[in-house]
Amino acid sequence: MQRLGKNKDGYKGETIDIASVVREDLSVAQRFGWQIERLPVATDLELLAFTRPAASNSESRATPRIYISTGIHGDEPAGPLAIRQLLQESQWPVGMSFWLCPCLNPTGFPLNRRENAKGVDLNRDYRHLHAPEVRAHVAWLERQPGFDLTICVHEDWESQGFYLYELNPDRLPSPGERVIEAVSKVCPIDQSAMIEDRPAKNGIIRPDLNPANRPLWPEAFYLAQHKTRHSFTLEAPSDFPMETRVAALVTAIRTLINETVK
Ligand SMILES: [Zn+2]
Repeated sequence: MQRLGKNKDGYKGETIDIASVVREDLSVAQRFGWQIERLPVATDLELLAFTRPAASNSESRATPRIYISTGIHGDEPAGPLAIRQLLQESQWPVGMSFWLCPCLNPTGFPLNRRENAKGVDLNRDYRHLHAPEVRAHVAWLERQPGFDLTICVHEDWESQGFYLYELNPDRLPSPGERVIEAVSKVCPIDQSAMIEDRPAKNGIIRPDLNPANRPLWPEAFYLAQHKTRHSFTLEAPSDFPMETRVAALVTAIRTLINETVK
């Protein structure tokens, strides 16, 4: 499969009507019994957060808790489309609990740009919490329990294929390689030895870093510092057809969930 060759100096592919995607998310989530929270950001802006507890009849042992977010960069439309598909398919294992943020940057998508409407890259604001979207999101996260696994869903306009970041400081058993294997059936994998200036192997970047030493935090650093010991960031290659990118993200998320339920 070949790159489309559209992305020159940024994402130039198809865009989405984020308001309509989020409206569909909301109606599907209501239909399937998710708890819905509206997080006020400004007078005319809110974020949505969906929660799905494990079935109450599942045995008393602790049930895995998985957090998924997307739409923090407004030029990465496959993430919200992948989440919409997963909500519609509704194949969530009953023995697990889920937290889902379907769009963290609603004002970026109409502009097809990474930043929000005010020009802030929200995914660099999770240490200092300047942007109201990030403050609303973190205030909500602070009210949630810790997660066994967090998944941040992104795209990369430059990449040669799908890749992922894994933060796993305790070196827990990793499903990373199985994610790559599953995604490789539906989307090329970026086999570069360096991706985004970090060493990568078979599409996996395992940064050896301490968020405390970094001046600007993406969402994943906040999560790794405060909410989880195991975090994945998924990156679909946005110079490929939309259905390929959505399939890559859906497959990666499903694989992470299925590997956690085992
Ligand atoms: Zn991104």
